[in-house]
Amino acid sequence: MNVRIAKNSGFCFGVKRAIKIALITSTENHEIVTLGPLIHNPQMVAKLEEEDIIKVDSIDQINKRPTIIRSHGVKKEILDELIKNDIEIINATCPYVSKTQDYAQSLSEDGYELIILGDRNHPEVEALRSYVEQEVTIVANADELGDKQFKKVGIISQTTRRVEDLQDLVTKLVTRCHEMRVINTICNATTIRQNSTLELAKESDVMIVIGGKNSSNTKMLAKICESLVKTHHIEIADEIDDKWFKHKQNIGLTAGASTPDWVIVEVYNKILECIGNINKIDNIEDIPGFKEE
Ligand code: SF4
Repeated sequence: MNVRIAKNSGFCFGVKRAIKIALITSTENHEIVTLGPLIHNPQMVAKLEEEDIIKVDSIDQINKRPTIIRSHGVKKEILDELIKNDIEIINATCPYVSKTQDYAQSLSEDGYELIILGDRNHPEVEALRSYVEQEVTIVANADELGDKQFKKVGIISQTTRRVEDLQDLVTKLVTRCHEMRVINTICNATTIRQNSTLELAKESDVMIVIGGKNSSNTKMLAKICESLVKTHHIEIADEIDDKWFKHKQNIGLTAGASTPDWVIVEVYNKILECIGNINKIDNIEDIPGFKEE
């Protein structure tokens, strides 16, 4: 049996940066908080709590402690309230997410009716939406547009969507508006991970997708795999069932941009155990197929 991992699996630039900022800040302070989870991975959030980096869910719970803004950003009105309450802010919003917020604002100021491709309940999209005063249309796919007609539209995307869905949306809108401006705000880390995962899924008999059940980019990887092969989305090694690998020759692994290396290594070792391989590894670099580009 072969067990391989998709290239570029695991932490992306924005997540590594947010964790680094949080850890550096925590060494300089007794206790700091993150407003909402710093990243969408419960195991990493629990690990950060051990370093006194505590997740809170509302401004009332901050108690004047220095506050890290998570990688996906927060709503503009929340930032304003933190400033008003004189709370020290450490902004770990991913620069690609900040850039998307800037685009939302500038498109709106230039008179474009904004359309966001994304999940309306995701914190990144909620934050994006808050940078625009006018009405915003949020769709998860082109079909959700219905029969709506537009005059002058600006289109942006949640950073973790599929480029094919953005293309589809643009194609459907061409005949429904007089003027269109499209900014591809899907981040490169997302596209690279999706493509590597797709390639591996095509060559695998079963795919294991590792990452937070609340992680948008991990769920998207699972969706891509599910369209091709039997797929299991798990957060930790204990969820693995050895029956999944019965009569399977090629086992594929992939992990979302917020999945820590140690979780991926634990999953890989557990799969080896399930298929009767007594070898164990300590580093993600030792998993066949792993490559960071
Ligand atoms: S997936 Fe992209 S936008 Fe999101 S945190 Fe990572 S690098 Fe930033």
